[in-house]
Formats: sequence, structure tokens, C-alpha cells
Amino acid sequence: METKLGPEMMCHVFTMDEKLQRLRDKHARGQRLKVGVFGITGCAGCQLTILFAKEKFLDFLKMVDMMALPFIKERNDKGKFDIIILEGLVASKEDKRRAEELRARCDVLMCIGACAVHGCVPAMKNFMDNPEVERAVYAKVDYLNSLQATPVSKHVKVDIELPGCPPDENQIYAVLTDLVLGRPPRITHNPVCVECVKREVDCLLVQGKPCLGPITTGGCDAICTAAGHECMGCRGPTEDANLTAFVDLLIEKGFKRQDIEKRLHTYAGLLVDEEEKAQGLKSDAKGDG
Ligand code: SF4
Ligand code: SF4
Ligand code: SF4
Repeated sequence: METKLGPEMMCHVFTMDEKLQRLRDKHARGQRLKVGVFGITGCAGCQLTILFAKEKFLDFLKMVDMMALPFIKERNDKGKFDIIILEGLVASKEDKRRAEELRARCDVLMCIGACAVHGCVPAMKNFMDNPEVERAVYAKVDYLNSLQATPVSKHVKVDIELPGCPPDENQIYAVLTDLVLGRPPRITHNPVCVECVKREVDCLLVQGKPCLGPITTGGCDAICTAAGHECMGCRGPTEDANLTAFVDLLIEKGFKRQDIEKRLHTYAGLLVDEEEKAQGLKSDAKGDG
């Protein structure tokens, strides 16, 4: 059903400070915030991360009214929300329409997951021949209305982005708690290496493994590297990542440029592609590794 928008529904035009003030005021008045969790094209893994956080999820429910969660709820509020949490990227006309509609229905739009933030695995199709991909996946392609895969922020104003595939549950609930209290959300922009140092992880790059941690945004508590697995870059490059220097470093260590680029493109292909163009780094990778 089409949502009618009055002036009170145009909260995407306010600044984040103004939105936080509104949340603070509600908290001070003892009003419970209305929250919704929605998904567009994705695998539902981000929504499951919210649900599987168990105690954190139950604690969050004590503070807010969860008015929509279509993934598990049959009846969902069709009105206005204080916070909407959105999983998935825009890969079809319906995704675009849905993202625009949800944007108009909330004060704070928080996009979670690598798909929503920088494309992730579904965006690999952008580096391939689209009709060929569609024919490989679907028996009939006549009724498809797919678009080039793009992050949500390419279509609507996004207030908060939490990357990761899936995103880290501790970070999700820390940010949500900040919002409920009307505090500026604490989001790290440090690379994963900083978290490795805190956790005293033996560096895998030093051991000769192609870890992407130095150029990848942290916030996951170095969950992979602490378990002995290289960082695959699921949280996307840091704002000041020097891709050229990092690729050169890995080549010096004996890795092939094509393999490095495939790894860089696995989760954050769209972002890496933009960065590569900005930094003059040529790429032949097709994102299929
Ligand atoms: S970011 Fe990962 S877990 Fe979340 S929807 Fe995309 S593929 Fe699934
Ligand atoms: S293991 Fe990876 S993320 Fe950790 S310190 Fe070494 S390079 Fe950085
Ligand atoms: S260590 Fe790297 S791949 Fe693993 S969760 Fe963190 S950012 Fe993602």
C-alpha cells in the first residue's frame, strides 16, 4: 500500500544532530522508540544476526517497540518509525521503490551489512555480463526487472552504515543503544589491525598470508584473524586506504596481482572499483573469485 507523506514524515531532510536531539527528547519523556527491521536484496544473514544475538536482542526489546520485522512477523506496522534497520542492496526496481518508501517512513535509516553498504557478493554481477548471469540463474528471464547492483546510499540518504558480512552483533547493539539514548553512535574507522593489536593476534601478514586487515575497516573485533583466518575485507576499505601501496606490498611478498584484486573485489567490489579508479589502479578482476 502507498504511504502518504506529511511534513512530519520528511525526516530525511533533518541533520543527524537534529535527529539525535529528537531521540534524546523522546528518551527524556520516557517514550519508547518505534523500530522496524526490513530487508531488500540480500541473504537475510544480517537480519538473523540481529535475532541470533539472543540476550542483546531481548534487552533491546525492553527499550523499544519492535513494530515491524517482516522476516518473522506476519503483522507489521505500515506507518512511521523512529529507526529503520535495513539489510540488502538495490538490485531491482522493487528494491529501489522499497528503499525510497522506507526512507520516507523513518527518522533514522540505519543500513547494515556489506550488501547495503558496498554491494558485497550480489554486486559481483556488475563485473559480469548481466544477461548471461540472468540466464545462468533463472529458467525464464522475461519478467526480471533487475538493475545494476548498488548500495542503498546511491538512492536515498542513509544516516548510519554498519558494514560486514554479516555485521558484528556487538557493534549493531552498541550503535542501537546509542540511538535509543540519543547519543552520537560510536563507529570505529580504524583498520582491523588495530583490533588485532588489542587482541594480541600473531600477525598473519607477517607470516606470509594475504590478509586485507591493514586496509579494511574494523569494528568486528578482528574475529577472523583472531581465529587464524586472514581478513577477507568484508567490512570494506578504510576511508584513507592506499590500495595501490597495499597491492604493491602483496606483490612484493609474492602474490599475484590478479589474485589480490579478486580478493579485494569479493565483498567490496563496487567501492574498491571506485577507489581503484580514483587512485589510477587498473583492474582486470571480474570479482568471481
Ligand atoms: S551482508 Fe552478508 S549476511 Fe548481510 S545480507 Fe549481504 S550477504 Fe547476507
Ligand atoms: S593479521 Fe591482518 S589484520 Fe591482523 S595485524 Fe596482521 S595484517 Fe593486520
Ligand atoms: S576480520 Fe575482516 S573478513 Fe573478518 S569480519 Fe573482520 S573485516 Fe570481515
